[in-house]
Amino acid sequence: MPWITVQPAGLPVILERRRMPQLRAQLPFARNFHSLGLRTRVVLCQLPLVSCMLVVTSVFALAEPAMFANPLFTLCLLLHAVLLAACAVVPWERLPERSFQIVPVLDFVLIALLLHAVGRTYSNLMLLLVFPVIWLSVSKFKSRILVAFAGTLATALVPLLAPGGLDAGHLLRLVLLPSVMLAISISVHIIANNMDFQRDQLAVKEAEVRRLLAASREREQLLHAVVDSIDVGLVALDAEGRVTLTNRQQDAFAVRAGTSRDAAPDLQQGRQRIYDGDGVTFLAPESRPVRRAAEKQDVAGQLLWLGEEPQRIAVSATARSIEGQDGDCPGGSVVLFKDVTNQLAELAAKDDFMSGISHELRTPLTSILAYLELALEHPDLPAEVAAHLEVADRNAERLLTLISDFLSASAGTLEIRPEPTDLADVVRAAVQSAAATAAAKDIALDNQVDHELVAAADPARMGQVLDNLLSNAIKYSPAGSTVSIRGWQHAGASVLEVADTGYGMDDADRLRVFDRFFRSSSARRSGIHGTGLGLVVTKEIVERHGGTIDVASALGEGTTFTVTLPAAEGRSSSAATKPEAGSGGLRNRAAT
Ligand code: ADP
Repeated sequence: MPWITVQPAGLPVILERRRMPQLRAQLPFARNFHSLGLRTRVVLCQLPLVSCMLVVTSVFALAEPAMFANPLFTLCLLLHAVLLAACAVVPWERLPERSFQIVPVLDFVLIALLLHAVGRTYSNLMLLLVFPVIWLSVSKFKSRILVAFAGTLATALVPLLAPGGLDAGHLLRLVLLPSVMLAISISVHIIANNMDFQRDQLAVKEAEVRRLLAASREREQLLHAVVDSIDVGLVALDAEGRVTLTNRQQDAFAVRAGTSRDAAPDLQQGRQRIYDGDGVTFLAPESRPVRRAAEKQDVAGQLLWLGEEPQRIAVSATARSIEGQDGDCPGGSVVLFKDVTNQLAELAAKDDFMSGISHELRTPLTSILAYLELALEHPDLPAEVAAHLEVADRNAERLLTLISDFLSASAGTLEIRPEPTDLADVVRAAVQSAAATAAAKDIALDNQVDHELVAAADPARMGQVLDNLLSNAIKYSPAGSTVSIRGWQHAGASVLEVADTGYGMDDADRLRVFDRFFRSSSARRSGIHGTGLGLVVTKEIVERHGGTIDVASALGEGTTFTVTLPAAEGRSSSAATKPEAGSGGLRNRAAT
């Protein structure tokens, strides 16, 4: 499609759009026209007419030298030269705005003079009018179109002043020329103004782009400052798994691990001192967090050790994926490394403390148990006292088990001896133990496990699990509420559920409920005593049975713990459905 532009000198040029860059390269002043001085611009605008006048003069010199004998003709040539000189020397910028537009008006006069000098024979020279017409029309003022039209009309009438009749050709020129010039004038005015408008828009957009660039540079600097100020090591990866950003803390970790920033931590093998969570095994490159994140694997709290003793540190690594531009496919990931050396040392100190205390408690407790046993063996013991002593004995036994658990939890060794066990009995005993505490708090215990529920389990340990879940349900429920215990079998697995309608937990607390020493913020605020260890031991016991424990909770609504023990070997699995809350028990019985 042809594309029309106007040269600074006012000449319309038809070009192919795709050839535009070439033209720009050829006409450097075309790009910078508006940055040139006003005088230069005026001279440039006058040059096309002057060039044509040179051609005209040359043609007359060759074809009709007699013309130079005509004083009007030579005067006319002289005036053209004077006008060009005036264009170059007049300080236009100091004169009132747009005074230079007198030049195209004077062009009309000089062309009229030329037409008069050369006579009707050369009335074709009227074509020269196109130059002042275009010059005036590129102005943003519509009135210049009228000036151009009036100038054309007046000049077209000049040949009539010459003696001789008016033939049809002259008449046609008289009508056609002003009309054509008017059409050219309007077209040039529209195109030139449209270009001005586009240039203004471009300037606005350029300013906006500059502003956005500056803002984005500022934001980038801020991001770098923030990222460098945090005490968490950070490695950002793009969608292809390439490292795009690391922060100062990560550089420090890399130095300790024997890698450098340029060596892209974790992605290279070699002299690195990166160890697995046990602090001993050298961590293979493919198991390192950045490599795993680059391969789109999940990395959540991976523990690793960096460096050698005595300066080695423990870091916990977590990877988060970044959403891509289109929102669904990941655009990369960020791997965060947190120094957890102090936390680990604190945990180890807590473990030491717990095992020390537990050892200390065990000795007097063993003595209490021994004396309770002696007292229970007394033949004259009244039945009521014997019953009370039995409860004391049972609880002292439980205390001893708990203390052993503390020791096991710190040492990580819990012994499980599974045997065919009716969990209904275990639940009954646990409910009986918790009855007094529940009654004191006016909490109802609704035991819906009124049927056999056999599983391969350690009855003492499962008793511990239920004791703990029940005591928590009672502790974290308000007076007047109900704690329900349900049990059923599903695909051979035995499921026990302890549900309360108590204080509940928010999601953040729920996710940490099995962490060692964790206590929810509401539990701490309410002043309810606890160690944050019960659920750790509970989970350990369940998992050592090969089972799972899950928790569902909603703040202010209650909490449900669900323990699932796998099907015992050699037992046929029986499909059973979960009983409705409050329905009073299991409908299907386990096949034993
Ligand atoms: P604790 O000795 O503190 O009860 P646990 O390990 O048994 O220790 O429980 C850890 C934390 O989990 C508790 O401190 C409490 O915040 C929360 N929790 C446990 N069970 C419940 C429950 N049934 N309702 C609400 N919060 C609970």
